[in-house]
Amino acid sequence: MNASPSPDDGDPAKQFFLRYAFPLFIVFALITLSCNNKDTKKDTPALPSIDSTLVRQQQQKEADSIAKAAVPKKKIYITFDDGPNKGTRNVLAAVKEENIAASFFIVGEHVFDSPKQKETWELLKTDSTIQLCNHSYTHAHNRYTSFYEQPAVVVADFKKSQETLHYSNNIARMPGRNAWRIDSIDHTDIYESKAAIDSLHKAGFAIMGWDIEWMFDHKTLAVDTATSLLLRRIDNMLAAGKTKTPGHLVLLAHDQAFQKTEDIEKLHFVIQQLKNNPDYELVFASKYPGVK
Ligand SMILES: [Zn+2]
Repeated sequence: MNASPSPDDGDPAKQFFLRYAFPLFIVFALITLSCNNKDTKKDTPALPSIDSTLVRQQQQKEADSIAKAAVPKKKIYITFDDGPNKGTRNVLAAVKEENIAASFFIVGEHVFDSPKQKETWELLKTDSTIQLCNHSYTHAHNRYTSFYEQPAVVVADFKKSQETLHYSNNIARMPGRNAWRIDSIDHTDIYESKAAIDSLHKAGFAIMGWDIEWMFDHKTLAVDTATSLLLRRIDNMLAAGKTKTPGHLVLLAHDQAFQKTEDIEKLHFVIQQLKNNPDYELVFASKYPGVK
């Protein structure tokens, strides 16, 4: 006697459905689902993971900084003429406090004019953070016309300074003349001086003039160009590519203009504005293109 119905009980259609049709339907459904999934993957791009987004951002950042580094900074050569004199120690202190590269064009005779000037020279000479260059021995005693009429005298004057003070480079600046003889730059401001300057160049000196002069009043010995005007002129000249070498600007200042507190403060201000400008780099005279 069968107390409970066997699983085989029931109508044949239901049994056929349970044994064959239903499993086949499940298999068919799974295959269809799997194909649909593949198509979905093909048509819709996968969303980036957080990790790959960060990597891409980092790569973009690196590419940007490489591109920025590829644009060279404009070079500014700050030069101070005629020391050692009463302003030189103030200039030296400012340059060191601001931690910048600056070049001093020395007049040989000024080293020996007084014990104080000799002491200042010793300070300059033993300071490895600045550069010293040759601005002649006598500065022509400020009688330029007759000085430049005698090329041999000019060469001997610069050589005397070199042999007495032993500069570590061959850079020279003409007294009272803005003349250049560096690599292919050949510029003479006053034609009558040309032969003497050529002779000095032939004797092995690289002659550096200047692009902009920070003027001073020869009576009061105070700077007489407003700092804002000076800075604007520097920006404009570099932007317009009007310097002797585009992208390079030689600024001439004079030690003796920095004796009063207000003028020393102006010097600090100008240096700070230039050194904090991300487009500029302050460098030594010996870095000028073509100086060997
Ligand atoms: Zn001078």
